[in-house]
Amino acid sequence: MMKQTGPDMDMVNLLRDHGIAPTLQRLEIASALFSDKRHVTAEQLLEEINLGSNPVSRATLYNTLRLMSAKGLVRELIVDPARVVYEPRTTDHHHIYDVTTGELMDFDAESQWMTEALRLPSEFELIGIDVIVRVRGARGRRLNTLTARSDIGHNAFQLSAPES
Ligand SMILES: [Zn+2]
Repeated sequence: MMKQTGPDMDMVNLLRDHGIAPTLQRLEIASALFSDKRHVTAEQLLEEINLGSNPVSRATLYNTLRLMSAKGLVRELIVDPARVVYEPRTTDHHHIYDVTTGELMDFDAESQWMTEALRLPSEFELIGIDVIVRVRGARGRRLNTLTARSDIGHNAFQLSAPES
């Protein structure tokens, strides 16, 4: 991986915009996290960062992820108690998790129907809805062979597998 000599100003501004002081280590962590929009565990990030020239400690990494999560810069996703993944928070979306392979797939779905079904009392403000749909593929079918669709109606989503 090519290393930049100066600080990445986009990343500096991104941290500042979220009220996070852009220290060298935080920039390093943010760069690793935002280099690829994916779901990554803290340990994977640690490994990746520490291959570079500015290693960070595990404690710093966890503290930074906690801070970024609290500031809304990254999303912390508790897939199961033993697996927490992080991803840059872009748009709101939901997840499908294959419990056998550990694969995680994004899908967009209108949250409107869930909001309506919930009938949250008006003295509460809805902050967000995160859905994790847990599946197990039959006959070795993998999640990445599916396409999630949310354009078929406001109250449903459909998963389809290509004809084979
Ligand atoms: Zn996601």
